[in-house]
Amino acid sequence: MTRGLTIALLLGLLVVPCANAARDAAPVRADIEVRIDPETRELTGRGAWTVPPGESLAISLDDRFDVLRLKVDGRPPSAVTQRDGRRQWRLARSDAATRRVEIEWRGRLDPLEADLDHRQVLRHVGPVTAPRGTFLPGAAQWHPVFVGRPLQYTLRVDIPQSQRAIVAGDLASDSNTDGRRLQTYRFEQPDPAIDLMAGPYRVTERKFTGADNRKITLRALLHEDVADLGASYLDATERYLRLYERWIGPYPYGSFSIVSSPTPTGFGMPTLTYLGIDVLRLPFIRDTSLGHEVLHNWWGNGVYPDYATGNWSEGLTTFMADHAYREQAGPAVARELRLAWLRDLAALDAGQDQPLREFTSRTHGSDQVVGYHKAAMLFVMLRDTIGDETFDQGLRRFWSEHRGSIASWEDLRTAFERASQRDLAGFFAQWLNRAGAPNLRLESAQAVRDADQWRVDFTLGQDRPAYQLRVPVAVDAGSGQQVHWVDFDRERATFGLRSAQPPRSITLDPDARLLRRLAPGEAPPILRSAMLDPTTVTVLTGAEEAGAALARRVVEHPLQLRSPEAPLPAAPLLLVGLERDVNRYLARHGLPLRPAELSATPDRPTAWVWTATRTTGETVTIVSARDAAALAALGRPLPHYGRQSWLVFAGGTATARGTWPSRPQSVRLDR
Ligand SMILES: [Zn+2]
Repeated sequence: MTRGLTIALLLGLLVVPCANAARDAAPVRADIEVRIDPETRELTGRGAWTVPPGESLAISLDDRFDVLRLKVDGRPPSAVTQRDGRRQWRLARSDAATRRVEIEWRGRLDPLEADLDHRQVLRHVGPVTAPRGTFLPGAAQWHPVFVGRPLQYTLRVDIPQSQRAIVAGDLASDSNTDGRRLQTYRFEQPDPAIDLMAGPYRVTERKFTGADNRKITLRALLHEDVADLGASYLDATERYLRLYERWIGPYPYGSFSIVSSPTPTGFGMPTLTYLGIDVLRLPFIRDTSLGHEVLHNWWGNGVYPDYATGNWSEGLTTFMADHAYREQAGPAVARELRLAWLRDLAALDAGQDQPLREFTSRTHGSDQVVGYHKAAMLFVMLRDTIGDETFDQGLRRFWSEHRGSIASWEDLRTAFERASQRDLAGFFAQWLNRAGAPNLRLESAQAVRDADQWRVDFTLGQDRPAYQLRVPVAVDAGSGQQVHWVDFDRERATFGLRSAQPPRSITLDPDARLLRRLAPGEAPPILRSAMLDPTTVTVLTGAEEAGAALARRVVEHPLQLRSPEAPLPAAPLLLVGLERDVNRYLARHGLPLRPAELSATPDRPTAWVWTATRTTGETVTIVSARDAAALAALGRPLPHYGRQSWLVFAGGTATARGTWPSRPQSVRLDR
């Protein structure tokens, strides 16, 4: 199993890190049969693994299973060890011979609980089953795993006839006998373990002719409730396949499937994506997240990131999916997305803003900001530096040279260096190895009459040690903005730009094309600051029990509670309570009351959430509700709205929301 989805980002869904260490080792070949009974939750399996000669290795299996038979070349193996609830058998080194390992096992799976919310799903990594759905993640070791070795497999699944199973790979056969269904899958691309899903699916299927004339099978395996969405999901899949085959190269697999899950999951694996039923109903999943997952078959599941030296695949996928779709919708739409990323970055506390190279997979919101958005900005800046066409040549070169193997940030750099004939070592080093981001300032500017023309002199500043930057500045001379790029690699420098018309203003990075920490005025406060900043102090005032429960769901760190009677803390503040008590607290401390934007809503509001910046610079986040029930109703939705500055709720539904406007750094030029 690999990455979490864009929806995971938007909805805060389940993401499981990928066990990738084994990719480059010689694979074992597995021939496995497994029988699953969702009613009784019994699983029985047997298989034969062919292990190439070489070093010693371990076989591991979750200890919920009884091992009925284990033979290595016909003999019982050496000692069993126990580790983290898993049994391990050690196999001694064998330089000469290929070994054959036979195992039979049986055990009981966990019951599937469909009413879990996303954080509960995140904690449960065991294999689960029910007639409504079965999910056996490879990481749960429901089948014997050869530690450190990937596997190529043939897997036969025996399930009730009303069900269908799916794993990564191509469906080789599908037949029914005596009320049971037998399905055989084959997958030749070495994978660390098998993720298996099953359910009472209705299948929509079609063939797609790939760029290299291969027939690719597209399937939607959906629960009855959402089966009518199958055709539109396959239409969208075709569009994405065409886009990325043209952009990168032929789709590397023989099939792609969209599979529904009764729990609110969001998973991407090679050749398929596994999405919650309710998630599939959201229109933006088809328009954005699905494309992101399709693209992961190239980046992440086609070329694998080198987790030891950093995961580039989320950033590149976010750039070529989420950001690319916004660019297709128009430059202003793409700018909004980049600004949102930069606002998220500004909401991080300095300690959380890690170097990009240290990102491996997402476990916290702050990892998402670094691993997805900072990395996507790196690709925005790289393309601005070397040009669109050269950038695309570099991508195609990277794909053709590394397809099916592990690649690092250095491999990416090399591909772009060859395509552009430029040394990009400095560029990659500063964006990958440095924590944080440049603090860029437009310190001063003036218009100067220069013969029959005008000149704009302006000074840029940044903190030490200076980044090497190409900085866009826009001069407005009445006939629209004209963007100029200047090279800036010191702590301070003055530049001059010519203008035929009398200039009116100059603006720093107006389209948010640079990865940088927005200045306080540029970055309006958003809910995410309170969610992520560990220094946030929480004050509860009125309905304290419901308030504390809500605060615990929203804040990613242990709560730092303070009494409402205590003085105002010199730290970011999260204030949660009932309307009357909240207003009293705000008035007593001279904090701004509820802004007008939040009152202009026709529905019957039950709660208001907003952010503000104190005159001393700290952020205040306020949750004000009519009663305890209204506070409790925010528990599910509120964690998903980290990007917003304010919201109005009627029960659990957000009826209005918004972000306070950002003000770019701009200087009016007096004439
Ligand atoms: Zn992703």
